[in-house]
Amino acid sequence: MKYIDLRSDTVTEQPDFMKEAMFNAEVGDDVYGDDPTVHKLEVLAASIVGKEAALFVPSGAFGNQLSLFTHCKRGSEVIIADSNHIIAHEVGASSVIAGVQLRAIDSPNGVIKAKDIEKRIRFEDEDIHFPSTSLICIENAHSSGNVLTLSEMEEVYNVARKYNLPVHLDGARIFNAAASLDVDIKELTKYCDSVMFCLSKGLCAPVGSIVAGSKEFIDKARKKRKLLGGGLRQSGYLAAAGIVALEKMSTRLHEDHDNAKLLAEELNKIPDIKVDFENLKINMVFFKFTSTNIDTKALVKYFLENNIKINDMENGVMRFVTHYWVKKEDVLTVVNKLKEFLNA
Ligand SMILES: *Cc1c(COP(=O)(O)O)cnc(C)c1O
Repeated sequence: MKYIDLRSDTVTEQPDFMKEAMFNAEVGDDVYGDDPTVHKLEVLAASIVGKEAALFVPSGAFGNQLSLFTHCKRGSEVIIADSNHIIAHEVGASSVIAGVQLRAIDSPNGVIKAKDIEKRIRFEDEDIHFPSTSLICIENAHSSGNVLTLSEMEEVYNVARKYNLPVHLDGARIFNAAASLDVDIKELTKYCDSVMFCLSKGLCAPVGSIVAGSKEFIDKARKKRKLLGGGLRQSGYLAAAGIVALEKMSTRLHEDHDNAKLLAEELNKIPDIKVDFENLKINMVFFKFTSTNIDTKALVKYFLENNIKINDMENGVMRFVTHYWVKKEDVLTVVNKLKEFLNA
């Protein structure tokens, strides 16, 4: 059965042309460095983000945690927005794997100011009580639906430079951020030392993310990837999907953004709904119901009966996500079904 699935862009299954590329991939044992397709993906990924080298990893969380593990000394401190995925949704892995302390800055939409970072930077030789800052993390696009501007990124990067600290960019949806700002992705990644991005979200690959950075950083990360059990064998089948993701899927994300805008505008016309237009920068629409007596559990059920999958409200907010498999007609179907539910 075909559903309209608005729960996330991670639900994107592979289009036929991607499956064909996977089926026909030339592979080898990548732990021996023998897989030509993985090699091709890593070279392509590095060049797209303007870094010396890149590494294929199993997931976004794996890539983020591997980056922290590679950048940071145990017991050091990472400055990061409280709302970032690394803090909010990675099971506390940073304390387990890298053994670091996360110094959180309150920031609901992911924007951290250079001055707020600067006053938290510390060095262990300053005071017997202090850990040393080892890394600054940012996230773009941010999971609130916000996109950090180039100048917001530049400001953070400049303060990091001043203290000789690296910046890691959680760019799970970096291509959405670049599409939203209408800039080349390198305009964003020039403000970080390492970047992680996902192939398996809006880009439709089945599995995998990329970590990119300097050659020295990636060489170290490759060994630590092995330590974490992330050395993969004939992963060229997955990398082949990643190559299609980068070559074909990364350039069409503005379509998802346009559909999200259409969805937002149509939803906002419904009297009981208030859309968050501030955070309508990528493929995510956030909205609230203005009346309190709407049973969102019943809505989830009603939608499912009508072949639409959504997540229930979280912290009073609904989120609908558009992607490759959500077409303009689907957006209109969803809006009509929601009207039907509210009028019933
Ligand atoms: C999805 C996501 C991740 C993690 O990716 P997985 O592949 O699900 O582990 C990391 N950061 C952000 C901002 C994300 O949205």
